[in-house]
Amino acid sequence: MKNEHTKVTESSIDIQKVQQDLEPIINNVTERKLPLRAYQILRLAIRNLKLLPGKTILEREIAEVLGMSRTPVREALIRLQTEGVVKLIPRKGFEIEPIEAKDLREIYEVVEMLEGLAAKLSTNTLSEEELFELETLIEQQEIATNENNLEEWARLDNLFHFKIINAAENERLSNVIDVHADQLYRARLITINKRPLPFQSIVEHRAIVACMRAKDGDGAQVSMQSHRKRARNEILKAL
Ligand SMILES: [Zn+2]
Repeated sequence: MKNEHTKVTESSIDIQKVQQDLEPIINNVTERKLPLRAYQILRLAIRNLKLLPGKTILEREIAEVLGMSRTPVREALIRLQTEGVVKLIPRKGFEIEPIEAKDLREIYEVVEMLEGLAAKLSTNTLSEEELFELETLIEQQEIATNENNLEEWARLDNLFHFKIINAAENERLSNVIDVHADQLYRARLITINKRPLPFQSIVEHRAIVACMRAKDGDGAQVSMQSHRKRARNEILKAL
C-alpha cells in the first residue's frame, strides 16, 4: 500500500497549484474554440516547464484545471501525442515527454546545420532595420544577464534566433526547426541555472550580426553553427 501511495502522488497533480502556475498562460491564450484552447495552453505549459518532463497527467485533472469538460482536453492531448509532446501510458495517463540526451544530440545535429544555413541565407535579406533589431536584442540580453534574469534571457535568445530563421525566407527550413523548437527550449530552460552565465552567447551573437553587416554569409553560417554547438555541449553536460 505504501508503494501505491508514492505512485499516486507522483502521477497526480495538485490541481490548485497547477491552476496557479498556469494562470498567466491561461490568461494569455485568446483562442476560444475549446480543443484548440486546451492544446495551446498545454503546449505552452509544457514548453515553459510549468508541467515537468516525465510527469504523468490525467485527462480528468487537466479538465478540472482548465475548467472544461474532458472531451476537448482529450482532443488536445491526442494532438500533443501525435506531435511527440506527451505519450499515453495505458491506465496511467499521459506522460510528458522526458528530456533525453540522445534525442537532444540528434535534434542539435540537424538544427545546427539548418540554423547555420538560415544565417547564411538571411545575410542577403536582412534590412538595415532588422539588423538594428537584432543588435537591440543583444543589448537587452546583456542587461538581462547582468540582472541575472535568465528566463528573460532565454526569451530574448529565442527571439534572436527566430528572427534570423524567419529572415531566411524558406518555409521548409523553418518548419523543420519549429518541430524541434519546444524540446530545445525546454532543455535550455531546465539547465539554465546549472550553466555558466550566458556572456559567451552574447559575444557570439555579436559576431554573427557583425558578419551579416559585412554581408559575409559564409562567416555568419560558421559563427552560427559554432555558437549552437558550444551551447549544445554546455546543455548536454548540464543535463
Ligand atoms: Zn543564441
